[in-house]
Amino acid sequence: MALASSAMTLVLDIDHLPAYLGYAQPIRPAHSLVFILVVSAIVAITIKAPGMNLIVLSAFLGHMAVDTGLIAPLSPLSFYYVQLDPYRLPFAAGAVLCAFAACLVLRLEKGKAIAGGQK
Ligand SMILES: [Zn+2]
Repeated sequence: MALASSAMTLVLDIDHLPAYLGYAQPIRPAHSLVFILVVSAIVAITIKAPGMNLIVLSAFLGHMAVDTGLIAPLSPLSFYYVQLDPYRLPFAAGAVLCAFAACLVLRLEKGKAIAGGQK
């Protein structure tokens, strides 16, 4: 789970790669709500681990809490840009809440598994 969270945090900045390679990169598509919705759907369909979507969301929000600059939160649907800085604290709070919620879900699932094994 910690590995998935770390990987998600790093994957979000892959959208810098075209700029590093010298290609024009007008938007940062991985820093959008559309991206996190698509990733959450893929995780829900493929991984199906309890709490995994909360971990992915926590990683996304944690990344956004420490990131800087302009993002288009609804890209590729809209290219209205927003400065990240005023939203750092809410993103950080959301990241912590999602991490706690993921831990709670994992503990509840573990408790169900233990109770199921005692029948
Ligand atoms: Zn970033």
